[in-house]
Amino acid sequence: MEMAEFIAVLPKAEMHVHIEGTIPWAVTRAHSNGDLPDVPDWIHDDFRFIDFRDFGTVIYRSLQPVLTSPQRYTDIAAAYFQSLVEQNVRYVEVSLSTSGTINRGLNIGEVVDAIYAAVPPELMVRVIAGINRMSDVPLNSHEAQIILKTPGIAGLDLHGDERIKGPESFADIFQAAGEQGYLLRAHAGELTDPDVIRASIDVLNLSRIEHGTLAQGDDALIEKFIEEDITLDMCPTSNVKLCVVDSLAAHPIGEFLRRGVRVTCSTDDPPLFNISLSDELRLLVEHQQFTPRELAQLQINAFEAAILPEETRRELIAEVEGCLAEMETQQ
Ligand SMILES: [Zn+2]
Repeated sequence: MEMAEFIAVLPKAEMHVHIEGTIPWAVTRAHSNGDLPDVPDWIHDDFRFIDFRDFGTVIYRSLQPVLTSPQRYTDIAAAYFQSLVEQNVRYVEVSLSTSGTINRGLNIGEVVDAIYAAVPPELMVRVIAGINRMSDVPLNSHEAQIILKTPGIAGLDLHGDERIKGPESFADIFQAAGEQGYLLRAHAGELTDPDVIRASIDVLNLSRIEHGTLAQGDDALIEKFIEEDITLDMCPTSNVKLCVVDSLAAHPIGEFLRRGVRVTCSTDDPPLFNISLSDELRLLVEHQQFTPRELAQLQINAFEAAILPEETRRELIAEVEGCLAEMETQQ
């Protein structure tokens, strides 16, 4: 079996993706005033965003004309989920920006239902509520109450610029969400130093870090990930395009995996980075010499960290191992 075929047939999981970042440019153009270019600059491989704020502007520009009703979420999610099914992705966690959705005048419950309405039978989907660090979300706020009371929300995430506010401001909502059994994760280690990752894990009681890239070089923190069973949901191409790392070869995903950290690989915002999950895995082979066993380990790590019934988890991991065994016997 060729590597490309192995990547295609391997059961996969997309752990870190934002619904607002899954809108194809053609859809944005179709819903805008017609003054947008056919092909945006950021599609090109060598394009780099100036900084996180520049990237935020692009995301906002893409979603603003499109995500204006629950039905639009269904349409966008249906197309994205279909692309996952075509890649044999079995499980996806979709982050939904609660602050952004409320600010656009939409009802979070209706939007969550709209996303689930798009789920095809081949795919398991979990919607994760994402708070923006720009917001204040005390427990008695409208946003906090919606996050805690909306059926279908399976976890809580923290988005946005880590330099704006430390994790302490969000301790209460994370504690309440944890008491309800929500999965707790936060973006950290994308824009600022390892201390923010460390503090986020401790203050928010996290089991998952989205990115964690800037832990590279901090051996004590890498040890903490292993000891405390923290999963890192890493997005190599996103980190290159936002200049978090210099190149795919320099990204720490391979080093962390080989040191025993439970890392997974995802796309973050696939059309904005012009990337699919299968592309990400292919690039790891090309730039970091990932073996079939290491690609399989990324998927096993993901299924171990996923919100799944135990029996389903075991079946998926067994399927990954079967797929790897077939690949290895043919090599
Ligand atoms: Zn992200």
